[in-house]
Amino acid sequence: MLKGHCCCRAVRYEVDGTPYHSTGCHCSICRRASAAPFVAWFTVPPASFRLVAGELTSFKSSEHATRTFCTRCGTPITFQSTHYPDEIDITTGSLTTPSRCRPRLTSTPPRVSAG
Ligand SMILES: [Zn+2]
Ligand SMILES: [Zn+2]
Repeated sequence: MLKGHCCCRAVRYEVDGTPYHSTGCHCSICRRASAAPFVAWFTVPPASFRLVAGELTSFKSSEHATRTFCTRCGTPITFQSTHYPDEIDITTGSLTTPSRCRPRLTSTPPRVSAG
């Protein structure tokens, strides 16, 4: 099981199962939403993600995509697209031990490119 938390530690989450997609996304919306050059993500089925503390705020970052962040400190936590209903992407940098889930791809994969 993987565990993660936001910068202020109000949000804590757990992830069951094995991440099967791990990337660094350089798309314009990831850059804007994080105010950083790129965002590292890993992917699991939505049921694998469990919020155990704190509160997430969500917003639509494009027609098909919803992103969440910690309501208190703003740390980006998840990405979901209606194009991929069987997936939730979680920010690798919010893991307690990010090195357990290193990005394998550095290009922008189509599945997370436009949201
Ligand atoms: Zn926080
Ligand atoms: Zn992106």
